[in-house]
Amino acid sequence: MNQPIRAPRGVKDIIPPDAMRFEGILRETEEILLLGGFQKVLLPLFESASLFTRSIGGETDIVEKEMYTFQDKGGETFALRPEGTASLLRAAIEHRLADISRVSRLFYSGPMFRHERPQAGRLRQFYQVGAEILGPLTPSDDVDLIAIIHRMAVQFRIPEWTLLLNNMGCPRCRPAYRTALVGYLKDHFGELCPTCQRRMGTNPFRVLDCKVPACQPVLEKAPRITDYLCDRSRAHYDRVREELDVLEIPYRPEPRLVRGLDYYTETTFEFTSGALGAQSTWAAGGRYDGLSKDLGGPDMPGVGFAAGIERLWLLREAARTLPGAGLPPIWVTVFPLAPLARPKALRLVTALREAGIPAVGLFTDQKIKAAFRQAEHDRSRFLAFIGEDEVESDTVQLKDLVKGEQVSVPLGDTLEIARRIRMSLLPEEKEHSGSV
Ligand SMILES: [Zn+2]
Ligand SMILES: [Zn+2]
Repeated sequence: MNQPIRAPRGVKDIIPPDAMRFEGILRETEEILLLGGFQKVLLPLFESASLFTRSIGGETDIVEKEMYTFQDKGGETFALRPEGTASLLRAAIEHRLADISRVSRLFYSGPMFRHERPQAGRLRQFYQVGAEILGPLTPSDDVDLIAIIHRMAVQFRIPEWTLLLNNMGCPRCRPAYRTALVGYLKDHFGELCPTCQRRMGTNPFRVLDCKVPACQPVLEKAPRITDYLCDRSRAHYDRVREELDVLEIPYRPEPRLVRGLDYYTETTFEFTSGALGAQSTWAAGGRYDGLSKDLGGPDMPGVGFAAGIERLWLLREAARTLPGAGLPPIWVTVFPLAPLARPKALRLVTALREAGIPAVGLFTDQKIKAAFRQAEHDRSRFLAFIGEDEVESDTVQLKDLVKGEQVSVPLGDTLEIARRIRMSLLPEEKEHSGSV
């Protein structure tokens, strides 16, 4: 026996009826962005690997160990996209979708790929919806973007959500902070885990992200970026907080919140939920004023976020706000009782669909019992039989599986068949809507 091939580890099929619900989550999230004036960009699933090493930075987990890179037959090195912001910026620059003279609001959605250890809420292929505002921005744009994610939290009734907020400073104030942080970490070198010891020299801000319990006492007393902000970054942070207060969006200042990607500046934020366990972040983002220039584009600020759809699924499941599967019911199963009836059955199925009636044909050599079984499986309301007699008389037997009635209808009169089907369904729909 051949061994069946399974999906790769950390990669999940989304099967019926979940696939339609999953797409419902994507759609409802995108609708909130469309309301906010964002326009969609469809991005490729793979890019030149250098796009990500240049934007995300070499000393990050993503680039160091999580990227799926490969060489194609031309010898070029590509990577499956581990996130969307770099791709979106690349596209915005390439097609001149944004510059410093006007504000552009763009979004993307789709699968991302990271070679991480799979666990609850963390897959190797996972879906994100993300949005970016590019152009001549002010701190109010940061708040506007946060307000859009807040809208998701409210509309989807995300349980136990918290907004964590920080300001990472800018190229003017961060060097002094970096020096202070590295100095402090050096003083406590022996108390840190090997990863922290290594990152201290390469990407010291990432040390603040460490989850190893033994590192926590040291990290809690580490210097805070908010004590080193320059006047401009301080003013930026104050404005964001004041305006969040105006919108009555609660937040918690989190001075250790430094996003894992190098391109972030100023505002950083995360939406977490106590209902998620270890992987508690369901949306995150921030300001990245240097990214466009780093990628060879205009010197133009940007602010963006990405939300994880699998995590939104878990949260909306907990909140009982998952979208419906929205599957159209099958109304008619057409069953030719003899091989010679198949062409007429095919024509009827096609004609019914043209008339807007969901229909399937069952083309099998099995007996009539199979047709009933199939109709039940498809939750079909009608069975339409065409046997040898019906081929002769050019009719079809239409059986209402709920009422048990069976009538003979001219096969060519699709309108009459459609009318009868709709008539049978109508009173039931009225009763149904009346009782709700
Ligand atoms: Zn600054
Ligand atoms: Zn550590």
